[in-house]
Amino acid sequence: ASVFAGIAQAPEDPILGVTVAFNKDPSPVKVNLGVGAYRTEEGKPLVLNVVRCAEQMLINDPSRYKEYLPITGLAEFNKLSAKLIFGADSPAIQENRVVTVQCLSGTGSLRVGGEFLAKHYHEHTIYIPTPTWGNHPKIFTLAGLTARTYRYYDPATRGLDFNGLVEDLSSAPLGSIVLLHACAHNPTGVDPTVDQWEKIRQLMRSKSLLPFFDSAYQGFASGSLDKDAQPVRMFVADGGELLMAQSYAKNMGLYGERVGALSIVCGSADVAVRVESQLKLVIRPMYSSPPLHGPSVVATILRDSEMFNEWTVELKAMADRIISMRQQLFDALKSRGTPGDWSHIIKQIGMFTFTGLNSEQVAFMRQEYHIYMTSDG
Ligand code: PMP
Repeated sequence: ASVFAGIAQAPEDPILGVTVAFNKDPSPVKVNLGVGAYRTEEGKPLVLNVVRCAEQMLINDPSRYKEYLPITGLAEFNKLSAKLIFGADSPAIQENRVVTVQCLSGTGSLRVGGEFLAKHYHEHTIYIPTPTWGNHPKIFTLAGLTARTYRYYDPATRGLDFNGLVEDLSSAPLGSIVLLHACAHNPTGVDPTVDQWEKIRQLMRSKSLLPFFDSAYQGFASGSLDKDAQPVRMFVADGGELLMAQSYAKNMGLYGERVGALSIVCGSADVAVRVESQLKLVIRPMYSSPPLHGPSVVATILRDSEMFNEWTVELKAMADRIISMRQQLFDALKSRGTPGDWSHIIKQIGMFTFTGLNSEQVAFMRQEYHIYMTSDG
């Protein structure tokens, strides 16, 4: 007998469930397109050369200990992370209006930011795009916010539903929080143009909507760290406030190290000091302090101009390869005379594509060809 005997079996996570099914398939030609992790031509995970070098340097440094980090994490990592996303010459950084805390990758940064807002911000509604990364609504709901949606993807054009987006944000209550994917929208691969970003910025600022950026793919979309950060920097340049969740899972290939950061750009330096003090109260009872190894690797790379450059080269190689694979898939579909318009595959950006396949077609691909993807295509 068990005191837990009455517990029901929980459903599989819709994304991780694809991997479970994939692992059970004995076929030698099977392919898993479910999880957002970069793979080599051989289908293997990739550790960047610059990461291997940084880890070697850390291991060989006898002055390194395994002491606890402070609640807010590795200070140098936090500084360098803010600089990476907001730009070296960011006025908000120079004016000490940015507070950055190291968190457990992108997910942890979103959760800490969500709990901070639930405790200290007057409006508890957060607008998330439809569709969005499946974890978003759960993270924010459990953090104490209420998730509502704004229109984002238009299945008819397989592009951005810009008018729907503008309508929905226009009718959001003043001060609502709005989750924005900084670049390479997951799962659609559809991003606003710079022009559309500017209109979104004006609309949001005019209605005091608070931006909460999720940046899980900086550099992974275009291959350029600065270009992918441009939308975020437009919002910082206007002097307004925002939240920023950063992940190094994809762009440095540090998935399992769980390394990321939450930054809050505040209206003034003294507000930033008080915000940081409250972030500590959110973090301390959650996990006390974050891990040491991942941010040490990141700081080693970001502080050294040679290693930084090597990283940008490796990062661009990954981004370029993704772009070229989109082209190859598109060309292959075309050359076989596959019915339909597949141009969305090369218009979308980042590691995800919304193929436009429906759940029946996805099931067919799985049964006939051992190609695994989420049921929404
Ligand atoms: N946001 C988005 C949009 C993502 O796609 C991901 C990763 N799938 C994350 C956040 C968080 O990832 P992690 O916690 O591994 O950094």
